Amino acid sequence: MKTMEMTCIRCPMGCRLTVTQEGETFTVTGNTCRRGEEYGIQEMSCPMRTVTSSVRVEGGRRPVCSVKTAENVKKAEIPAVLEAIRGLRVTAPVAIGDVLDPDIAGTGVKLVATAND
Ligand code: SF4
Repeated sequence: MKTMEMTCIRCPMGCRLTVTQEGETFTVTGNTCRRGEEYGIQEMSCPMRTVTSSVRVEGGRRPVCSVKTAENVKKAEIPAVLEAIRGLRVTAPVAIGDVLDPDIAGTGVKLVATAND
């Protein structure tokens, strides 16, 4: 049996969750709603995060443009995503929502611009 304590980040209430795993069965306590149960199970089985960072822009008003992954990626994949973002160069103009990499670090997730440049 494995137990983890965590804070649910799905809404500002920040409920304290206790998640227990026995084999393939997960039990969540401390949640106020179903989203907390889903969060607790995912956090224990395969934590996911949206990655935000910035990419170098050539010929733009500023040297970098803010970006984020269009969907969550596995927490374990974040270092590879950040490394891929570090190596990325784009040419201005860049607009909010532009796809700057359709498959960042082989995750199957798009990297999109979150600013105009
Ligand atoms: S369990 Fe529900 S109410 Fe509590 S923080 Fe998570 S989403 Fe919000």
